[in-house]
Amino acid sequence: MPDVVTMDKIVSLARRRGFVFPSSEIYGGLGSSYDYGHYGVLMKENVKTRWLEAMVRERDDIVALDSSIILHPSVWRASGHVAGFTDPLVDCRHCKLRFRADQLEEAQCGARPSKHPGETELCDLTEPRQFNLMFQTRIGALEETGLDAYLRPETAQGIFVNFKNVAQIARRKPPFGIAQLGKAFRNEITPGNFIFRTLEFEMMEMEYFVPPDSAEHWHRYWIDERLAWYRRFGIRESHLRVRAHESDELSHYSSATSDIEYLFPIGWSELEGIANRGDYDLTAHSEASGTRLEWVDSATGERYVPYVVEPAAGVNRSLLAFLVDSYDEEVVAERPRTVLRLHPEIAPVKAAILPLVPRDAEMSTRARNLYEELRRAMVAEYDDSGQIGRRYRRQDEIGTPFALTVDEQTVEDETVTIRDRDSLAQERIPIAGARSFVLDRLAQEWKTSKAD
Ligand code: ATP
Repeated sequence: MPDVVTMDKIVSLARRRGFVFPSSEIYGGLGSSYDYGHYGVLMKENVKTRWLEAMVRERDDIVALDSSIILHPSVWRASGHVAGFTDPLVDCRHCKLRFRADQLEEAQCGARPSKHPGETELCDLTEPRQFNLMFQTRIGALEETGLDAYLRPETAQGIFVNFKNVAQIARRKPPFGIAQLGKAFRNEITPGNFIFRTLEFEMMEMEYFVPPDSAEHWHRYWIDERLAWYRRFGIRESHLRVRAHESDELSHYSSATSDIEYLFPIGWSELEGIANRGDYDLTAHSEASGTRLEWVDSATGERYVPYVVEPAAGVNRSLLAFLVDSYDEEVVAERPRTVLRLHPEIAPVKAAILPLVPRDAEMSTRARNLYEELRRAMVAEYDDSGQIGRRYRRQDEIGTPFALTVDEQTVEDETVTIRDRDSLAQERIPIAGARSFVLDRLAQEWKTSKAD
């Protein structure tokens, strides 16, 4: 069965339910920036927390870091970004549009959208020019004396320049890693496709420092680990694949990169890049700064510059993949239903508490008490507006795994119904045990019921 999801449906649901809004909308929007509403924020937090747990909390060999967005400008000269972090650009003199020279096949001609740029007689493309993707800014009050600086286009360099601090203080021996989550900025020439590619986004990067002769082994290891992470949180196996970069696609620092790709509605596209950066970065910063960034074994005196294996993922792009992968439509009792079959650990809200008749004081008091009890243990939502059917639909569309309804019977025998988002099965359980019931169910292994 073909997947029902399209990018338009995701954009519309994300907006309707308050996950993602166009940025600066009252001024006409800024095509390549988005704002996250309540459920978007909660879901993004879940993505980041799951990543941090897998990278730091569940392991002994990786520590966390939070470096600055604006680093010393020399960092970006030494790292090669000033010279090499560029995309090749062509302009069309006829339609005045700008395209990535390496992505003409995916772009639409401005005059004839059914054609690619360069394919019509009117197309008049310039030669490709290199365009640096870093946003520039200035530190200091005065134009003349200020210092040119950049907003970081990746978080990795903040890790490399802290290598010595962390290696000494964390007392780790290769292989060990440093993980960092945070915003990055890129002056993308061809943004679009909703939150897939934006000017600012959050990255989840981990630099894993290893003995040089084991870098290939760790590169494969991290590809497998990261694939397993997406599968663990519900992404369907059939929609994930690994693609190794051709030599002409490699970034300036990389000796090998494999992308984990997801089958988005726009086709197979990168979700995460896993690069073998070799000793490129530590060597470059050692030479430029005069500080030797290397591993020294104090017992044996052995010293070497570790190689670096880097899994680099985008929070926003992951969120998009989770939305797309979980989006489902079905007809239940002759009525259409849209549901996000999100993994419970990714879903923004875990349980909704719904008093069947909100005006009924006995029901609403019990529902309110249950809500107060649940919200201490999980993100819960009290929803008493509109008909019960509409409330269920709202919760389905934000992917809430459980809905607990307080009705007439609750008042008589202190039980509630619990409705499962995916199977729609309803059970009656004692209100007193509801919290542990939901917590148990949330802790159980979960597999999507969405068709492949
Ligand atoms: P692309 O080829 O899509 O431009 P990239 O290879 O330049 O991506 P990396 O530098 O490997 O991307 O960045 C790591 C991850 O950060 C990407 O896999 C993606 O998830 C995310 N990412 C990169 N650029 C953007 C962007 N402009 N908007 C949103 N996420 C991004």
